[in-house]
Amino acid sequence: MPGTLFIVAAPSGAGKSSIVNAVLARDPRLCLSISFTSRQPRPGERHAEHYHFIAVDEFKAMIRNGDFFEYAEVHGDWKGTARQSVLPQLAAGKDVVLEIDWQGARQVRAQVPDAIGIFILPPSRNALEQRMRSRGQDSEETIRRRLAAAREEMSHYDEFDYVVVNEVFDDAVDEVCAVVAGSRARRPVQRVRHEALIAELLRDG
Ligand code: GDP
Ligand code: ADP
Ligand code: 5GP
Repeated sequence: MPGTLFIVAAPSGAGKSSIVNAVLARDPRLCLSISFTSRQPRPGERHAEHYHFIAVDEFKAMIRNGDFFEYAEVHGDWKGTARQSVLPQLAAGKDVVLEIDWQGARQVRAQVPDAIGIFILPPSRNALEQRMRSRGQDSEETIRRRLAAAREEMSHYDEFDYVVVNEVFDDAVDEVCAVVAGSRARRPVQRVRHEALIAELLRDG
């Protein structure tokens, strides 16, 4: 595939969405895949911007149709990435970012082995809990459920190529940008991107 696929995962509250949004704002070559989900929108979340919010029945119909590149049940809600959100963009040479959980990441790696995995960790357990609360968008019960799930999610950090600890926000954004830049400079990627240049430089005579 001409484009590079980036998988960003983290426990809920680690700062994944904030970091990804900052990286996207800096880098016009990246595009974000908007996931489909059966969960209810939080206050302020808009359809087709944060997620495509759909009913459970519609989600299951998409599964049956084979519409998903990957999907998983996450914290009791269905989440999935449509094939249409990824494959045409990669084929057109765009770099695509997926904000997905570890179960989805496994499915993606099985299909795109050279996808780049980035795992965001919080600087401490306390910071994670505070950030979840400071967002002020989830009920106490949801927060408790997510804290328990956070440990499970973090136990999969070693399935990812890069780990970024989100202590100072701007430093974490810089690190993710550096990973993106480094990934683009890999030889197989550059060989496709600069095919004409390389052919010209290596021409006889
Ligand atoms: P947040 O982590 O608090 O921002 O909550 P979200 O509801 O945005 O995400 C919940 C979980 O679903 C996270 O672990 C995400 O990584 C995961 N997730 C989001 N979109 C997708 C997707 O398209 N596919 C999969 N497999 N997981 C997703
Ligand atoms: P996620 O997408 O991983 O669930 P968010 O991006 O929604 O996480 O961030 C969770 C909360 O933590 C938000 O209120 C965000 O503003 C805050 N946050 C993110 N990074 C930092 C940081 N480095 N220091 C302090 N607060 C942060
Ligand atoms: P939230 O419900 O807070 O928006 O998301 C919580 C979790 O769902 C995060 O860990 C996020 O990465 C995951 N998630 C969001 N979209 C997808 C998706 O399309 N696929 C998968 N597998 N996980 C997703």
